[in-house]
Amino acid sequence: MEKVLIIRYGEISLKGLNRPYFENTLLKNIRRSVRQIGDIRVYKSHGRLYIDLEDYDEEDIIEIVTKIFGVVSVSIAYIFEANMEKICEVALKQALECVEEGIKTFKVETKRANKNFPVKSPEISRTVGGYILEHIDGLKVDVHNPDIRINVEVRDKAYVYSRKIPGFGGMPYGSGGKAMVLLSGGIDSPVAGWLVAKRGVEIEAIHYHSYPFTSDRAKEKVIDLARILSKYCTKIRLHSVNLLNIQKAINEKCHAEEMTILSRRFMMAIAERVAVERKCKALVTGESIGQVASQTLESINVTNAAVNMPVFRPLIAMDKMDIVKISEKIDTYETSILPFEDCCTVFLPDRPVTKPRLERILKSEELLDVEGLISDAINNMEVITVKPED
Ligand code: ATP
Ligand code: MG
Repeated sequence: MEKVLIIRYGEISLKGLNRPYFENTLLKNIRRSVRQIGDIRVYKSHGRLYIDLEDYDEEDIIEIVTKIFGVVSVSIAYIFEANMEKICEVALKQALECVEEGIKTFKVETKRANKNFPVKSPEISRTVGGYILEHIDGLKVDVHNPDIRINVEVRDKAYVYSRKIPGFGGMPYGSGGKAMVLLSGGIDSPVAGWLVAKRGVEIEAIHYHSYPFTSDRAKEKVIDLARILSKYCTKIRLHSVNLLNIQKAINEKCHAEEMTILSRRFMMAIAERVAVERKCKALVTGESIGQVASQTLESINVTNAAVNMPVFRPLIAMDKMDIVKISEKIDTYETSILPFEDCCTVFLPDRPVTKPRLERILKSEELLDVEGLISDAINNMEVITVKPED
C-alpha cells in the first residue's frame, strides 16, 4: 500500500489565470525544501500536491512542509486499489490510531470522483462507519462535531486519511516581489518580516549596530534571527550597517531629545538606498502604534517622510501580546529576548520627543552632512547570506 502526504493549498487556487504560476512556485519550493531529506517525489494531481513518503521519516517531512508558505494543511493518506473491503480495513486502521490519541467521536466523509465505482458516497460512509463501530468499543459517531473525520476518496484509486495538520497558509515564497526588512534584535521586526514573507514576498534584511559601543553578541543575535527566518525563506541576505558615526554626529550637532527620531530617519534613508540597489519594492518595519516614543503617529509621519518607497508595517495595529504569540509560533521569541542591545540604546535620550515636527527635524538635519554620512555608512556596509543549516 502506498503512503503519500497530501498537501492542500487554499488561497492560491483562487488565483484564476495566474494559478499555474502560483502552483508551480509552490511545487518548486516544496521540492527544494525536501531535497535535504532525499530524492523525494513531489507531484501535482487533482488540485493538490502529493509527496511519496516511501520509507522516509514522515515526521521530518511534515515538519519541513508545514513551514512552507502557501501550504494550508497536510494529511498522511494511504492509496490502494479501490474496493469496499480494503477501504473498511484501512479506515479502521486509521480510526485505531486516532483512538490511541484519545479521540472519542468520528465521522466518515466520502468523495466519489470515479463515478464507475459501484457504491455511492453516502453508502460508502455508512458502511465504513458501521465497520469501525463494530470493531472499536467506546468510539461514537458524531456527524456535526466529530473529534476526527475519516476521509475516503474514490478516484483512480482509493485514498484514506484522517488527521489534518495545519500549515501557515499564505502565498508561495518568491511569488510576490521583494522587500527590505529593517531587522533589529527585538521581538517585533522578525515577526513583521515573517508576515510579509508569508504573503509570498521575498525578503532581505538590513540591520544597524553601533559597534564597538554595541557588542559582537548583538550582531550575532541578529544573524541568529535571520537564520530562523531563513527556514521559511530558504536564505536571507543580511546587510549590516554601522550607525555609530551618524549617532556621534547627531550627538554633537543636534538636540539630545531628537537622537531617536533622527537616527530612525537615517535608518530609513539608508534602507531605501540599499533596497533600490537590491531591486526591493518596499521597506518593512516592526512598528506598532504607540508602543514607544518613536511610534506615535507624529513620529511615524516624520520617519516616513525620510523615504519615498512604500513602508509596510504589518504590526501597526497589533497588541504586544499578539505579536509575542506569533514570535513564539515562528520560533524567534527566545532569541529576540536575549539581552543584547542594538544601536538604539546608545546615546539614548532620557526624554525623546514624542511629537516631533518635520520642519524642526529638517532644520536639525541641515546641521549634518546627511549625504556624506549616508554614503559612508553604505560604503562600509557588511553583507552576509544566512541559510538555515549554517
Ligand atoms: P523591534 O522589537 O522590532 O526592535 P521596537 O519595538 O524595539 O521594535 P523601535 O526601536 O521603535 O521599536 O523600532 C521600530 C522598528 O525600526 C523596528 O521594528 C525595526 O523594523 C526598525 N529598527 C529599529 N532598530 C533597528 C536596528 N538596530 N536595525 C534595523 N532596524 C531597526
Ligand atoms: Mg527594538
